[in-house]
Amino acid sequence: MKSMKVLIVDDDVDSLAIARLRLKKDGYIIESAGGGEEGLNKAREDIPDLILLDVQMPGRNGYEVCEELKSDPELCNIPIIFLSAADDISEKVKGLDLGAVDYVTKPFDIFELRARVRAALRTKRLQDLLLIYSEVDSLTEIYNRRVLMERLQQEWDRNLRSIGAFSFIMADIDRFKRVNDTYGHPIGDVVLEKIAYILKHSIRSGDIVGRYGGEEFGIIMVNSTAEEACVASGRYRHAIELTVFKSKKEEFSVTVSFGVANSTGMNSVTELVSAADSALYKAKESGRNMVCSAV
Ligand SMILES: [Mg+2]
Repeated sequence: MKSMKVLIVDDDVDSLAIARLRLKKDGYIIESAGGGEEGLNKAREDIPDLILLDVQMPGRNGYEVCEELKSDPELCNIPIIFLSAADDISEKVKGLDLGAVDYVTKPFDIFELRARVRAALRTKRLQDLLLIYSEVDSLTEIYNRRVLMERLQQEWDRNLRSIGAFSFIMADIDRFKRVNDTYGHPIGDVVLEKIAYILKHSIRSGDIVGRYGGEEFGIIMVNSTAEEACVASGRYRHAIELTVFKSKKEEFSVTVSFGVANSTGMNSVTELVSAADSALYKAKESGRNMVCSAV
């Protein structure tokens, strides 16, 4: 399991040094900051798994730092444990209401602090796993349809701010039912996994591939013309066609048809998806194992 990163933000040099030394021995990667502003910068630079945040600090105090972290979509899920000299119920309540997961009173007992850190990180691990499970298709380990569609909408919004045209490619395995009927569903699953793998490793960095439906995949090709998306699809098509699958009976290969649509001239995401779908239909009608572009 990879080491978890803990950021300690505290203006008290001694307390920071003790926590740092002790938690480092527990196998965490420790970053530290001597003040609120520095802490925020460090959190943004390299997102930690947990933040220990002192309340009383000159400049921006812990509560202000917490509010800023919670208002940033990139940082709002980092659990925060407040460290404070104040053993005042209302202070603790305030910290927890701001979204902290826990509160440790200073001078802290190092065993208690370690236990609270462990507990917070256990929850964080589960939360990270849940996020992965909710975004990834369990068989093919690429994005599921919901995430694919969300990313498509995001790309569309970016495009409206004239970041550049992009393409949406729909890919569908030809005669997939026949694969399942001939070789059985476990082999059908192997085919799906392998094709997802090929697509995932063939797209450019920044492009997105997801499982659209049963044997259908969607690819978002950022900053691209329809021609570029057709060329790329041709490469994917060829790579898949060359792949050999093995069943108990025999070796076989499968082919995939592609439909390409570009955002230029489109009025909505729905229109873009439906254009890619029509192009895919055309590829199927024209004999399969080919790339067709929306007109
Ligand atoms: Mg302090």
